[in-house]
Amino acid sequence: MALSFCNSKATPHLQGVGVKFRGNRGVESVKNLIKKVGIPPLVSSPPESLRRGTWVKLICGASFEDVVDIRNLSLVYTLAGVDCIDCAADASAVGAVNEGIETARDICDLRRPWVMISVNDDEDLHFRKAEFDPEDCPLDCSRPCELVCPANAISIEEEQSDAQVSYGGSVPHKLKGGVITERCYGCGRCFPVCPYDRIRAATYVRDASTTSRLLKRNDVDAVEIHTNGRQTARFEELWDSLGDSMGYLKLVAVSLPYNGDSTLSLMNALYTVMEPRLSLFNLWQLDGRPMSGDIGRGATRESIAFAVCLATARNRPPGFLQLAGGTNAHTVNGLKREGLFRMYSGENSKDKTMVPGLPNSPHALISGIAYGGYARKIVGRVLNSMHSKHGPALIEHHPEYLLEALVEALALVRTVKGYDQFTSK
Ligand code: SF4
Ligand code: SF4
Repeated sequence: MALSFCNSKATPHLQGVGVKFRGNRGVESVKNLIKKVGIPPLVSSPPESLRRGTWVKLICGASFEDVVDIRNLSLVYTLAGVDCIDCAADASAVGAVNEGIETARDICDLRRPWVMISVNDDEDLHFRKAEFDPEDCPLDCSRPCELVCPANAISIEEEQSDAQVSYGGSVPHKLKGGVITERCYGCGRCFPVCPYDRIRAATYVRDASTTSRLLKRNDVDAVEIHTNGRQTARFEELWDSLGDSMGYLKLVAVSLPYNGDSTLSLMNALYTVMEPRLSLFNLWQLDGRPMSGDIGRGATRESIAFAVCLATARNRPPGFLQLAGGTNAHTVNGLKREGLFRMYSGENSKDKTMVPGLPNSPHALISGIAYGGYARKIVGRVLNSMHSKHGPALIEHHPEYLLEALVEALALVRTVKGYDQFTSK
């Protein structure tokens, strides 16, 4: 199989490279682990996972566009059995996700996860990039921005002055580098730590006609629309612009923050906009504390509180509910404590909301969990270690790293999927 990133920007050196598995013993270890875990028989189809409350989505990041990492993450999490992989609405990112998925399926005969692209209808935290000119930074700055960035998206070097070197001294003349745009996913952690207030946020809105074209690809299955909840006019405008491209999809997700008492009325208003052309599954992504799952245990509290508010709300519009924003290894336990993990609606339940496409069928009150920053962090540690030793490599070329990354991914995905027989390595 040849790599074929569409319009690859970040990794032209990888185009056309044939995938060969080096070190068959390593790949056999990966296959053996997958066999031992028994993933194929336990992995249900994405709609079935939604219904059963075992849906897991990997969020690569609405603004994250490093195609090497996106591809490797997609490969690892496909092997771990996720139902969906969500990426930037960008042809290169979509190509990288699909390349990762198909490479994983060459290793092991797994069902294909859905591919989702994320767009926004207005300004949104997920759709921004940090920017600064390193030449404006004081030479003696201790560069806390580099340290705080969870994506290794800031790299600053000192440029030495030639003139001064000729006098025998090698002193820094100015700083160079800055934000590695394709790696920045807009988390915002660098903004407050800059002591000189040099970092700006550049926000953007994804172009609807580009999105429409991507949705018509046969390797894109779903779209997620991020809305800030302040009004519905822009959502309606985007929904109308996407037009008949929605007919090519299996799922539309709406990602929204908690807006207190107005949350339900907003959801109902959005549903009213969608309903006339809603011939596919719909899902509400409850974005608790955006882009924070990697920070620590407590980051998941807000997404769980959001789920508690909505799970049994009587006047909730139809659609699956899925957690995001701050989700991490503690999220399932939090749901269990609230009695919401794999709790089913149905005739004896207070929950009477129906899900399009699943008439008269009981379904889980909470359909699943999307993991972003935390999922990327645990596998990212392995990818970073591989990259520092081998450069921007394809992970299947280094099965020892693939095995290590898969163990990390399985430890997270199993909390939802229940791969009970899983034991590390
Ligand atoms: S916004 Fe976040 S990801 Fe982007 S450079 Fe700053 S810390 Fe890194
Ligand atoms: S912390 Fe601010 S001033 Fe210092 S290197 Fe980073 S952007 Fe420049």
